[in-house]
Amino acid sequence: MFKVSNYIVKSEIPSESNMKDVAIFSTRTGNMIVVKENILDNIQKSDFEKVDFRVINLLLKYKILVLDEEKEISTILEENKYMLKKKDGISFTIQPTGNCQLGCHYCGQSHSKIKMNDDLVQKSFERIATTVKTHNYKLLSVTWYGGEPLLAAKPILDFSEKITKFCKENEVHYKADIITNGVLLKPDLFEKLVVDCNIKHFQITLDGTKELHDKRRMTKGGDGSYNIIMQNIIKCLNSETFDRYQPNINIRLNINNENVESVDQLIDLFDELGLIKKVHFTFSPVFDWGGNRANEKDSLTMDDFSSKEIDWILKINDLGGEIQVSLPERQAVPCMVGVENSEVIDAFGNIFSCYELPYTPAYQNDNYIEGNLLSEEPINKDSEMRNFNKNIENRKYSYCIDCNFYAVCAGACPKSWINGDVACPTFKFNMEEKMLLHYYLRKSKEYAN
Ligand code: SF4
Ligand code: SF4
Repeated sequence: MFKVSNYIVKSEIPSESNMKDVAIFSTRTGNMIVVKENILDNIQKSDFEKVDFRVINLLLKYKILVLDEEKEISTILEENKYMLKKKDGISFTIQPTGNCQLGCHYCGQSHSKIKMNDDLVQKSFERIATTVKTHNYKLLSVTWYGGEPLLAAKPILDFSEKITKFCKENEVHYKADIITNGVLLKPDLFEKLVVDCNIKHFQITLDGTKELHDKRRMTKGGDGSYNIIMQNIIKCLNSETFDRYQPNINIRLNINNENVESVDQLIDLFDELGLIKKVHFTFSPVFDWGGNRANEKDSLTMDDFSSKEIDWILKINDLGGEIQVSLPERQAVPCMVGVENSEVIDAFGNIFSCYELPYTPAYQNDNYIEGNLLSEEPINKDSEMRNFNKNIENRKYSYCIDCNFYAVCAGACPKSWINGDVACPTFKFNMEEKMLLHYYLRKSKEYAN
């Protein structure tokens, strides 16, 4: 017969009524269902005859109920292999310069003036186009990252021209995004990036209001960077380009105890400027970006961080801003590292598996560099990073295989686990609250319509 899956999370919906509703999220499918408490009781007691067969069918479809004899983890691992095999899209990251104007104290990179030249732009294009053609991918996405990528705007424009033409001719859907510090993001360059380079998503970091941001994200000369970045963001958000193409502008905050109190103030500021509806926010704990253990200084516990994250989301919602309380989706691999054809290319021509590796001294060795586009040597993908997935089952670095979030998380970040850090995302700590938020937001939208 059936049993309740091990891969579910339950969240009781507060109500005055005697018969409560319970949201059940399946981490095997990423689906959520809301049922009466007595239905949950009945399925937990295997009293299936007391439950309407249509509800049973839905619970089976969402894999909240599974067959008694099923060994769920084996099915999940098999599904992962199948999902990887039938993948029809591929992503690359290009880091066109190792230079950056800022000297953020938590950054693990070592900056130099290296920039992609025309030859390397051509070789990167050829490498990516060949991969797309050989594997018949129908979707291609490129992330621009650095150093600060806008210090190498010419390689971005030149590569984009070549790849856009190639994708058009080969009927491949192409999109790009960029992670920039925002210092050079003037409206005329913003327009070129959106229109000519098909960049639909901009991530810009602001670490709080002026005082705190400037203490953390200063120029190499020690000057604050807040005013110039904020002016650029305001001008871009008020530009014709933004109105016409509606690119996604994501304000990222790297948060620890030092700046946690200024998050509310920054959200208020965007509201006062009338921009709260035009941006998205990403809240991220300070991370170890290159063996510098930045995550150990002044960090919040994951429980504290996760509970504050819910408060910030609610605040943005109250102010009428855009919030995304998307529940996690089924994942076969944690990130690009798990997809062998996905690569990162830096301005030296080096190929890596992960975008946190280039320009970071701790990773400039053969354990991490897979090859070089300017060399004839073969590219070697047999690394600890690439093999993280294969090692999941023998618990080499992580205990993910025993985790009931595994099917929607897949390990989150191989680099962190391999470095000895626990990589669990915030949803592991605030899933029940996120489910409630998701439920109420969906309900309010249904009423609004
Ligand atoms: S290993 Fe971690 S840092 Fe590297 S790409 Fe994956 S998630 Fe990002
Ligand atoms: S990273 Fe954490 S939440 Fe994700 S599968 Fe591993 S143990 Fe679970």
